[in-house]
Amino acid sequence: MKIIAIGRNYAAHIEELKNDVPTEPVIFTKPDTAILRNNEPFYYPSISNNIHHELEVILKINKMGKNIEEKFAHKYYDEIGLGIDFTARDVQSKLKEKGLPWDLAKGFNGSAPISEFISKEDFDLQNLNFELKVNGETRQKGNTSHMIYKFDYIISFVSKYFTLKTGDIIFTGTPAGVAEVKIGDKLEATLEGNMMLDFEVK
Ligand code: MG
Repeated sequence: MKIIAIGRNYAAHIEELKNDVPTEPVIFTKPDTAILRNNEPFYYPSISNNIHHELEVILKINKMGKNIEEKFAHKYYDEIGLGIDFTARDVQSKLKEKGLPWDLAKGFNGSAPISEFISKEDFDLQNLNFELKVNGETRQKGNTSHMIYKFDYIISFVSKYFTLKTGDIIFTGTPAGVAEVKIGDKLEATLEGNMMLDFEVK
């Protein structure tokens, strides 16, 4: 399986990092070795001194497809969840300065903790509230109505480049409030009030 992620998909987050609003989706990938499941702890890696949390709604692809039309994209995922797109911000800043790819800053081991998936049927996907607390304090609060590129458009766009396969996971971008995590932090994330992630940084 593979992990595909979109960057710069919420205006307030673009502003907080002083990035430009993209004219087309900013896409990157993470290897499957980035995944953490079952609330396994995130072990702070030696490659960075400034790891940021980015809470994101994630989609699980349920069948193979390529060149998927936006109007059919909803048939390619039944389940949603939450993930953290951990980002080595110091590494990323250096790469961005040089115009280099972000892989090292985004795809390191454990950089993609993911929740269990739940059926999308019970939710209004255009109006999903999601929230991250660190040590009990709210850090990120998002609503999918603020996404620049919606779920179905993202699927249509990426499937022109990458054949999507069953089990692939798409990270759909982070709202404002990204910040550093420290060893000992406890991260808890909810989707429409459902506890989805609850793990520690070690
Ligand atoms: Mg992100």
